[in-house]
Amino acid sequence: MGRQLGWGLVGGGKDSQIGGAHRIAARLDDLFQLRAGALDIDPDAAHGFASEIGIADARAYGSWQDMLAGETARKDRIDLVTIATPNATHFEISKAFLEAGFHILCEKPMTMTVDEAVGLQAIARDSGRLLAVNFGYCGYPMVRQAKAMVDGGDLGRIRLVMAEFAHGFHADAADSDNPRLRWRYDRQQAGVSSVLADAGIHALHMIGFVTGQGIERLSAEFRSHVEGRDLEDDAHLSLAYSGGTAARLWTSAIAIGQMHGLNIRIFGEKGGLAWRQEQPNQLAWTPLNGRTQTLERGADGLYPAAEDGSRIAIGHPEGMLVAFANLYRDIHTAITTGTTSAPALSELMIPSVEDGLEMVRAVHAAARSAGSEGVWVEL
Ligand code: NAD
Repeated sequence: MGRQLGWGLVGGGKDSQIGGAHRIAARLDDLFQLRAGALDIDPDAAHGFASEIGIADARAYGSWQDMLAGETARKDRIDLVTIATPNATHFEISKAFLEAGFHILCEKPMTMTVDEAVGLQAIARDSGRLLAVNFGYCGYPMVRQAKAMVDGGDLGRIRLVMAEFAHGFHADAADSDNPRLRWRYDRQQAGVSSVLADAGIHALHMIGFVTGQGIERLSAEFRSHVEGRDLEDDAHLSLAYSGGTAARLWTSAIAIGQMHGLNIRIFGEKGGLAWRQEQPNQLAWTPLNGRTQTLERGADGLYPAAEDGSRIAIGHPEGMLVAFANLYRDIHTAITTGTTSAPALSELMIPSVEDGLEMVRAVHAAARSAGSEGVWVEL
């Protein structure tokens, strides 16, 4: 274990959806200490919550601009800033902290537009700082096992991947005026896509993570099933990847009965794999003409990438917080070894600015395709 690094959080306030997961994950290994925060859009709420969770008054900021100025001026400035604010703010906040020399973990989607994403790619490269994007589900040990099996040739050439992130929690037409839901389907506030940019993007990232291939072209169908929605609450994508793999992706917010609904199946010439996030400790492996085996997290004989990401003995369920913690632990390794370039981050299995850019490009390409009756669009 290396030296403890100073950590700051922008957004992720008291009632936020994802702030708590970051706070638990970042401190799971005692590698990061939360020393500064601009935790809420409301300065009073930001100060109040910062003091509740033990951030010193001097470093409990009322806005991210104050945090940037305050931390830049300190000799003991934080090393890493996590940005867990709404999507439309990611670009401006990431840019400002990168230019001031901080390492960044930004929530997905990295930016709202392709131009912003390309801009951040250049800023990250010029700054020499790390810019990671929180596609945290690639931190699950059995997802890393799947990747290692594909990399190791166990499946042979990958023919087809089926991926899903489909839930049923925005299905109630009677609730469509709820302000917490409405903005997500409003083009002015959410951009070109709703459920694909919000949920499907994780499954899309996972396809590239496991196969090691980039998206070459795609075709998409978007549907808004609940009346009055401007953006899609259900989408299907067909994708062609750089290594010849075909993929299909389904993402939905109206699939009643589906819970988190993140699943991936990978079909190669020599075998198939299936993983479900709701049972993340098991990976089903079926060799060609063989029997299906359940590979268990924590069992002997897994690839090192899966063994390293596993914290407790076999049979004790590990979950999403540990997956996120694996990302924080790998980011700690990257910072302390000075490994910040995008290709080097990929070696450490950290989603980088390149992944963030590819995903923003894919979301925009999908919106274009869906707007033209599913015409295939090159990335
Ligand atoms: P949320 O609305 O629940 O919380 C947002 C928080 O940010 C609130 O505390 C709010 O006060 C604060 N905030 C807003 N603007 C701010 C500003 N300018 N400065 C400081 N604080 C500000 O949102 P959420 O669901 O937690 O989502 C936040 C981000 O995390 C989004 O980009 C979302 O896509 C992403 N997210 C990622 C995952 C994942 O699995 N990786 C899951 C959920 C959300």
